Amino acid sequence: MTDLLLYNTLSRNKENFKPINPPNVGLYVCGPTVYGDPHLGHARPAITFDILFRYLKYSGYKVRYVRNITDVGHLENDADSGEDKIGKKARLEQLEPMEIVQYYTERYHESMRMLNVLSPSIEPRASGHIIEQIKLIEDILKNGFAYEVNGSVYFDVEKYNKKHHYGKLSGRVLEDLLANTRDLEGQDEKKNSFDFALWKKASPEHIMHWPSPWSEGFPGWHLECSAMSAKYLGDEFDIHGGGMDLQFPHHECEIAQSTAANGKESVHFWVHNNMITINGQKMGKSLGNFITLEEFFTGNHKLLTQAYSPMTVRFFILQAHYRSTVDFSNEALQSAEKGMQRLLAAVKTIEKIKASENSSVDIAGLEEKCRKAMNDDLNTPILMAHLFEGVRIINCISENKETIDKENLKKLKTLFNVYVFEILGLKEEKENSNNDTLVPGLVNMLLETRIKLKAMKDYQSADQIRDELQKIGFIIKDKKDGFDWEFSGK
Ligand code: ZN
Repeated sequence: MTDLLLYNTLSRNKENFKPINPPNVGLYVCGPTVYGDPHLGHARPAITFDILFRYLKYSGYKVRYVRNITDVGHLENDADSGEDKIGKKARLEQLEPMEIVQYYTERYHESMRMLNVLSPSIEPRASGHIIEQIKLIEDILKNGFAYEVNGSVYFDVEKYNKKHHYGKLSGRVLEDLLANTRDLEGQDEKKNSFDFALWKKASPEHIMHWPSPWSEGFPGWHLECSAMSAKYLGDEFDIHGGGMDLQFPHHECEIAQSTAANGKESVHFWVHNNMITINGQKMGKSLGNFITLEEFFTGNHKLLTQAYSPMTVRFFILQAHYRSTVDFSNEALQSAEKGMQRLLAAVKTIEKIKASENSSVDIAGLEEKCRKAMNDDLNTPILMAHLFEGVRIINCISENKETIDKENLKKLKTLFNVYVFEILGLKEEKENSNNDTLVPGLVNMLLETRIKLKAMKDYQSADQIRDELQKIGFIIKDKKDGFDWEFSGK
């Protein structure tokens, strides 16, 4: 177990992390709404909570990590009007909504695999939990914090706020919200504009709908996370995470829903990652600076001067503390690429280092500093600074400017393996693109040499080339006019 200090958005303080039921930890993170290609905005929360997940596991906790897939109920304007984001895509592309969901969920998973983001323990879909969501609405209605109008059910924020504090997470005060909202238009069913939908009656053109006690309709966007976190982690659980942009209204509404249903708050720690800007601007389709992860990995976007590998993107994101903004630029990513190469090169150098009798370096001190950085609210930039201190030490030892004994060398190897690979989740990237052309070229060259050797009647050398290639998995077929080969994959 660890002395982890974690910033709790709720208290606006770093707090000592103590799980409700150690060694178990319940972690819930809001996942993607799957209607478009994954982009840099998806990478940041995924990597942030991957680090938390990895560090908690490394520290000996048994973590149940739940990250949902939003496949219904997220309307275009993030509130209670407009078309369902997935429904709209399905209509435009003349597909079933679940075809859209399947396709973009797989795209998301593929990007996450490339970024070396570990899979969550459970990845529930909103559409698979309609029964749980209806039950939650019934509980909220029973406790008097919601009202039904024309087949839709809305959360009564004003009534809730009389007993609890709506706005406690985002620091908003309901009276200010009241003062700043315009009068409701006549056709709106809500008592107040900030009331939010728990259930919406589906209009005839709305594709995804389910039966409920109130109408044929669909759940409100905020509801799924309250219902699914309770189902898999219990009414009270340790950590709820997500991007800062979800604090209000999404997470504020989640708190209100759970408290209204159970009479108590469900989440102990609210953790939020900050946003990524692109050349100082918020990322947005209308601004032309919207870059998908695939575009980063291929370099195929007008703002990119080159391709950036998944590990470069990961390293770049981890260079900033998760509560700070990260500004993308080609220069910043290029320096991240260089930094990562230096770090990974040092890991290879450790393997070549030979231990001396005496040690001029102390690895225990460095180890302690790395641990402290992670315990201080997952301070990855400070951790990286310490790892680069390690890189300096490694390079000095390999240039014989410092010496290291057997025990410290072992510690140094473990330190880099744990922090670089296990906790930061970096990995070596193979240059596949080179292998694709280099290997066939080399095999052809060897087999042409073999034909020349046979012509010179040096059968022993010719056979040796064939045997060695076969040993590493190549199948060689001699033909009248030359040769053919394939790789058996073994
Ligand atoms: Zn959520």
